[in-house]
Amino acid sequence: MTRTIAIVNQKGGVGKTTTAVNLSASLAAAERSVLLIDMDPQGNAGSGLGIRPEPEQPQTYHVLLGQVSLEEALVETNLPGLAVLPSGRDLIGAEVELIQEIGRERRLLEAMEPYKERFDFIFIDCPPSLGLLTLNALTASDSIFVPVQTEYYAMEGVGHLLHAVDLVRKRLNADLEIEGVLLTMADFRTNLARQVSEEIRSFFGQKVYRTVINRNIRLSEAPSHGQPVLLYDIASRGSQQYLDLAREFLEAQPPTGQNR
Ligand code: ADP
Ligand code: MG
Repeated sequence: MTRTIAIVNQKGGVGKTTTAVNLSASLAAAERSVLLIDMDPQGNAGSGLGIRPEPEQPQTYHVLLGQVSLEEALVETNLPGLAVLPSGRDLIGAEVELIQEIGRERRLLEAMEPYKERFDFIFIDCPPSLGLLTLNALTASDSIFVPVQTEYYAMEGVGHLLHAVDLVRKRLNADLEIEGVLLTMADFRTNLARQVSEEIRSFFGQKVYRTVINRNIRLSEAPSHGQPVLLYDIASRGSQQYLDLAREFLEAQPPTGQNR
C-alpha cells in the first residue's frame, strides 16, 4: 500500500523542504521506493537533490495542467529508489490557470493515480501558502506531516492550517489524517526552545515525533551541493537525526496489508 504524505506548513522557512528531501532520502536508503513531488514554484526540493529542470523539460506544472503524464516528468535521482517530480517558476501560473477549471483541486490526485502503486511512499513538498497548490496536495494525500520551527511564533498559523485540514476533510478528502509533527531547527540551549517544544507537545500530544532536528550547518550546506545530507556528510548530526526520524516514521506506519 502506497502512503501519500503532504509536508505542509504555510509558514516559510520552517524546514519543509529540508525534511522532504532528507526524510525521502533516508527512506530510500532504507530500501523503500520513494517519490518526492515538488509543489513549490521555488523548486528547492528538486534542486536539493541535484535536479534542476531545463525550461522545456516537463515538471509539476505540466503534470497539473494535464500536458504530460506523471511518468513522463519523473526524474531518477542519484540515490537508488528515490525519484523526484521537479518544479520551477512556471508553477506560479498554475494557480491562476486552473482557477476556472472544474475539479481543479483534484488535478494532482488524478495525475498520481495510475502510477501510485510503484512507490511505497509519496511525499509532496508544499509551498508556504494554503492556496490551490496546497489544496491539491491535501486532496491527494493520506496524511499531513507538519514541520514546526522551535521558535516563538511556532504555533502562529497552526490554527489556520488545522482549519484548512477540516475544510478539506468536509469537502475533498474525508480520510485526511495527521501523520506527525516534527520539531525542527531546535536549539535547546535556549529556554525559549524548551518552552515552545513543550507547548507543541501539549497541543499535539503523541503526534509529535520523539526525534527532534537540531540546527546543523551540514543540513543547510547540503542543498548547494545538490545532495541530501546523507550523501553530503553521513556522519553529521543532521544526517543521523533524519535517519532516526525515518526509523521512527516507519515504526508508526500501519502494518502492511491492512487497508485503512
Ligand atoms: P521551508 O521549505 O519550510 O521554507 P527550508 O527547509 O527551505 O524551509 O529551510 C529554510 C532554511 O533553513 C534553508 O536555508 C535550510 O537550509 C535551513 N535549514 C532547515 N533546517 C535546518 C536545520 N535543521 N539546521 C540548519 N539549517 C536548516
Ligand atoms: Mg520549501
